[in-house]
Amino acid sequence: MSRIADAIVVGAGIVGAACAEALALDGWRVRVFESARPHGRATAAGMGHVLVLDDSEAQFALTRLGRELWRSRTWQDEVERDDCGTLWIAADDEEFAAARAKARWYAARGVTTELLDEAQLRAAEPELRHGLRGALRIRDDLVVYPPAATVQMLANARAHGAVVEQERPVALVGDGGLELVDGTRHSAALVVVAAGLDTPALLARRPDALRLRAKKGHLLISDRVRRADGRGFVSHQLVELGYLKSAHGGASESVAFNAQPRRTGQVLRGSSRPYDVVDPRIDSAMLAAMIARAIEYLPRIGSLPGLRAWTGLRPSTADNLPFVGPLPEAPRTFVAAGHEGLGITTSLSTARLVADLAADRVPSLDPMPFAPGRALEATHG
Ligand SMILES: Cc1cc2nc3c(=O)[nH]c(=O)nc-3n(C[C@H](O)[C@H](O)[C@H](O)COP(=O)(O)OP(=O)(O)OC[C@H]3O[C@@H](n4cnc5c(N)ncnc54)[C@H](O)[C@@H]3O)c2cc1C
Repeated sequence: MSRIADAIVVGAGIVGAACAEALALDGWRVRVFESARPHGRATAAGMGHVLVLDDSEAQFALTRLGRELWRSRTWQDEVERDDCGTLWIAADDEEFAAARAKARWYAARGVTTELLDEAQLRAAEPELRHGLRGALRIRDDLVVYPPAATVQMLANARAHGAVVEQERPVALVGDGGLELVDGTRHSAALVVVAAGLDTPALLARRPDALRLRAKKGHLLISDRVRRADGRGFVSHQLVELGYLKSAHGGASESVAFNAQPRRTGQVLRGSSRPYDVVDPRIDSAMLAAMIARAIEYLPRIGSLPGLRAWTGLRPSTADNLPFVGPLPEAPRTFVAAGHEGLGITTSLSTARLVADLAADRVPSLDPMPFAPGRALEATHG
């Protein structure tokens, strides 16, 4: 076994890239092994919405820190950062009551939100249909272009001494070292496995509960359009409040309205979440349902020329929280995987947590809810 680095990161999606960067900045001699090319999997498919979420205290803590870290640094123009904010749209009184409850929940935790009534919502987003009850606006949420952000994180890691090797697939990770598919073996003081859906299969000693399930997503991007007044077709990330029910529920398949303005003038539309479908092909019925749902909210969106549709697989866990931290029986092997539909948002907070734990610093947030050895109900079947 050769010792080529102090810390080895497996996988150069956005999570691996963020970990490599954080460790390199901390002074670790870092080597990254990526089986294909950086950001080619879930990260390339992601929507790039960076947001706070309130599903659980742990998820909130990870998303809030993630969003803070995204906001606190300067990104190159290619990252297409857009501080557009989120509008959680309430279609009726029941959803508006939910928006109100969310506003109170966030206020109690120091997050600023605003409630918009029907008229304020239409003024903010004139393309939305009449009759929507209102919205919760979260101004500090933003949008980025994940592949470019990953490239920038890796460049920063390299600038701090990291070496990134692509087309170097890892076969197996043990405590204190790993073996590549080509038979080469390397040891390191720390190995961080951030290989997305492939993570469990790479671990020589995998806790039983450490399983990942694919949630396939479809996205559709429009051609570039500008309205006569120079604004984009929409100017916030628009999400129906019912989205949360479908996004994190266990339903076998679900479609919800989610539309994102891009700085290019394009509109990116989501989203679908069928479980355990790994066929990357576009399901035209699913795409049609997604388009129909979007038209219910934005009646004229059907007139925007669709440019391209694609799919991606979100790596999901049974409790909707990622696995971040050391394996219980192999403390020098860390896992950073299972970020489902929030891995862009939480890449930087995950990396912060990994770097804190690796350095034995007081962690920036409570690591216990993310511990790879935590007990999970066996909902994955
Ligand atoms: C349709 C869709 C929309 C989304 N929208 C959003 C959003 O708006 N906001 C948000 O926050 N998140 C979003 N996400 C989620 C986000 O994209 C993912 O959570 C995130 O990209 C996961 O990153 P990752 O680095 O863990 O995994 P990946 O990007 O899959 O990276 C894993 C890497 O590991 C490499 N690898 C695998 N096996 C090996 C091996 N044996 N050896 C070496 N390398 C290996 C792979 O090649 C890959 O590059 C979305 C996801 C999808 C699919």
